[in-house]
Amino acid sequence: MTEEAAPTSSGPVPVLAVVGRPNVGKSTLVNRILGRREAVVQDIPGVTRDRVSYDAEWNGRAFTVVDTGGWDPDARGLAERIKAQAEIAVGLADAVLFVVDASIGITDADEAVVRVLRKSGKPVVLTANKVDDERAEIEAYGLWNLGLGEPHVVSALHGRGSGDLLDAVLEVLPKAPEAGEKAIGGPRRIAIVGRPNVGKSSLLNKLAGEERSVVDNVAGTTVDPVDEIVDLDGDQWRFIDTAGIRKRVKEASGHEYYAWLRTSTAIERAEVCVLVLDGSQSVAEQDLRILQEVREAGKALVIAFNKWDLVDAERRYFLDREIERDLVQVQWAPRINITAKTGWHIDRLVPALRRSIEGWETRVTTGALNAFLGRIVAEHPHPVRSGKQPRILFGSQVQTAPPTFKLFTTGKLDAGYERFVERRLREEFGFVGTPIEIKVQPRE
Ligand code: GDP
Ligand code: GDP
Repeated sequence: MTEEAAPTSSGPVPVLAVVGRPNVGKSTLVNRILGRREAVVQDIPGVTRDRVSYDAEWNGRAFTVVDTGGWDPDARGLAERIKAQAEIAVGLADAVLFVVDASIGITDADEAVVRVLRKSGKPVVLTANKVDDERAEIEAYGLWNLGLGEPHVVSALHGRGSGDLLDAVLEVLPKAPEAGEKAIGGPRRIAIVGRPNVGKSSLLNKLAGEERSVVDNVAGTTVDPVDEIVDLDGDQWRFIDTAGIRKRVKEASGHEYYAWLRTSTAIERAEVCVLVLDGSQSVAEQDLRILQEVREAGKALVIAFNKWDLVDAERRYFLDREIERDLVQVQWAPRINITAKTGWHIDRLVPALRRSIEGWETRVTTGALNAFLGRIVAEHPHPVRSGKQPRILFGSQVQTAPPTFKLFTTGKLDAGYERFVERRLREEFGFVGTPIEIKVQPRE
């Protein structure tokens, strides 16, 4: 029923980190870059924004924006914190967008960032924000003194100057595949994610074993120092951000936030994520949060229950209940039980990864899709709502990785009906290991 999936593996998309003091307008600017408003979720203490990495595009080029701003501005030691933030940003990004508030001018905290940025040698695009009108522009030019090159004057709030700013960003970012046109080849990108101590580094060490080829300098790639290439089962695989896995990021305060920043960025850069759970412990809030991020980012997924040596019959019973209750949203993800410590069953990981990637890249022909839609609509029409009955007229798969469908209809579909369509799509076409996105376009 499915066409052969076209290869969509591409080189790593370059990463742009946005740094600057609290309140200079970083998130306003990020929203401007993304051209949309992102949901702001506040549920980690000390973290004001949940999602920190986003896919962006300008003039047909794709890049990842990391908003490093989401930490508690009330924390003591502002200059220290902001310096640490800049160091992390420099470590994970290909280029840095340094935002200062031109209406205030340069502060000590800004100076601390400048020193870190200069030392790093990473390209920096200096942004003078809150230049809402021409009068303010004059003062902004004083920022030439920072020695970071031309200050790009913008008003994130009103959009002034943001196009020129993005042009300047593209100049310094390494070239990546054109957006939409994904280059063929290159190792698949995997992120091993999970909360601390579940066994992520044990798993990677076991997988890499003697084969470990620490590749800190792969020619022509970006953000190398933190990726690692491992030969497994006849193929090369790129493990994203293994530095973050091996070296724990333990800043005095806010290390939780930095860990999250790394996780979120790794997920965004990956094609497929391995969520490692500790099988001997209950599924935790933090596990679910990572799952949510993987789904929202639209990545392929494999769930690995580690520490299986510690799982006895009783724990097994409760685990099955937890899977039914907490992991119901990702029933489609392949699950494997492993013991990273001894290597038991880790040979099951690669086949699971391959299945998930295949599901992620599955393309259904328009003919097959519409035959299927016709069938399910006939068998199970949409319920009547206030005298009207929305109908699906036609559909097409507009994208793979993840599979994305557009349905043209005669009205809005109930959420329940959309879930029904998704469930039936999975029954019919597989889509193992991948989220599916359904976009409904009601006819005017
Ligand atoms: P962050 O803490 O650096 O992420 O800063 P925010 O994006 O949350 O912005 C802090 C405040 O500055 C908010 O009240 C914004 O509305 C305001 N702001 C952001 N950009 C501009 C701008 O270009 N001009 C003016 N006048 N205000 C801005
Ligand atoms: P990470 O923080 O997720 O990278 O976790 P680590 O790989 O550092 O492992 C945390 C702890 O769990 C270490 O003490 C490991 O030896 C232990 N561990 C890892 N895998 C297993 C396993 O399969 N079984 C058991 N019993 N312990 C494990």
